[in-house]
Amino acid sequence: MKSMELSQLTIHELNHKLNRKEISVSDVVRDVLKVIERKESELNAYISLFEEKALERALELEKHMPQTLPPLYGIPLGIKDNIVTKDMETTCGSRILLGYKPPYDATAVRRILDNGGIVIGKTNMDEFAMGSTGEYSYFGPTRNPVNTDYVPGGSSSGSAAAVASGEAIAALGSDTGGSVRLPAAFCGVVGFKPTYGTVSRYGLIAFASSLDQIGFLTKDVTDAAILYSVVGGFDPMDSTSWEYQVPDWREMLSGFDKLDFRVRIGVPEEFMVEEGVAKSILTRTEAFLKEAEKNGHKVVPVKLPHSRYAIETYYLIAMSEASSNLSRYDGVRYGYRAEGEEITDLDTMYRKTRTEGFGIEVKRRILVGTFALSSGYYEAYYETATKVRRLIKMDFEEVFKEVDVIVGPTSPMLPFKLGEKLSDPISIYLTDIFTVLANLTGIPAISLPNGVDSTLGLPIGLQVMGRPFDDPFLLKTAKNFEQILGN
Ligand code: GLN
Repeated sequence: MKSMELSQLTIHELNHKLNRKEISVSDVVRDVLKVIERKESELNAYISLFEEKALERALELEKHMPQTLPPLYGIPLGIKDNIVTKDMETTCGSRILLGYKPPYDATAVRRILDNGGIVIGKTNMDEFAMGSTGEYSYFGPTRNPVNTDYVPGGSSSGSAAAVASGEAIAALGSDTGGSVRLPAAFCGVVGFKPTYGTVSRYGLIAFASSLDQIGFLTKDVTDAAILYSVVGGFDPMDSTSWEYQVPDWREMLSGFDKLDFRVRIGVPEEFMVEEGVAKSILTRTEAFLKEAEKNGHKVVPVKLPHSRYAIETYYLIAMSEASSNLSRYDGVRYGYRAEGEEITDLDTMYRKTRTEGFGIEVKRRILVGTFALSSGYYEAYYETATKVRRLIKMDFEEVFKEVDVIVGPTSPMLPFKLGEKLSDPISIYLTDIFTVLANLTGIPAISLPNGVDSTLGLPIGLQVMGRPFDDPFLLKTAKNFEQILGN
């Protein structure tokens, strides 16, 4: 196999070749490292890279090859930099965590390593996963591999860019309001956010704990199912973990190509509006629905009336929880600490550390969140948001009585140019209008590549949402849709 090609393959394709001994683990790692060498200076997909360690681990894995290789055996993966890795710097894309080397591995990372996976590096991200463009990283923006003038989407920007370019075979991301699905859509890869509680959050550095979920960026649905089956399932270290054993990936997908596999697809009328959704995105979504009908699926118009409050509800809850979660960064326990003669007492040290350590978007959110939680305002803001969240959840419960999945665009807009929206944070928040719903309700959702905009050549994402705790059915449906889309 020619160099530069292995990096373009999926996990299951590489597993097949490794099992047949057509290639070695070192071949795969070296190939990915070559792509990194060629593209990383432009893409900036990684905050830290572990080239040597990865090569050493490849040799180690080659020495102890089991008879049949588990699917992740010898696969180089990117890990978003808000997921802790033992003795490897973990920064959350923030200055305030500079130099922080966690003493333990996140459960997700542990399970990957126990299955023979290789951590090739920690991927770039919006600071503390707050953002939709990748431009809020202390380590500089990541660029979209499809067209480097454009943003890759965020906040799992580096993970999506790495997978789309071949700088990783697949990657872990985190999704609080769309941070796996949006960059997947912008970079033309698959992004899967499982049901809240089915993937351990132990070792995922908290942004908004009731919304945060680890998810996967992959080249196809099969790889998403593989990662979910390895990483997902009950973990006693996470008190919100659901007692659940994820089935084997083959079992989850089996029957996806049967002719009698037909689903009822709900299409919310609120998603398919000309005002606010780019024309090419609407056209591509409609084209998919037509094809799906031709393939025997049923398309049903549905209503999610409270979804119009989704953005306000999401941002109030996310910022409130963030303001509380981020209070721990005080310069005492980990990471960056401000220095200088003027620091004569603890209060000044806290203040200077937080002033210098956090970037603009994080500060904005701490301020808004603290306000929304403060006495006298709590009922009007945070509490109201939690009530609306409940109404949104009830909308979904109603709709899922009639349909099996809900389909629409992942984002109302195409990728935009770097810097284009930086002065207008509200317009950036609107990129999340379709994705935050799955976090507010806890349901699983996946973004699939749905072609490109014909003028700009930029990728478009199709979002498929499923019933809570039925991720295997969602993945199987997504695999079926992937075929319809011709991916
Ligand atoms: N863009 C959203 C935000 O800025 C979502 C972020 C995320 O999912 N981590 O909050």
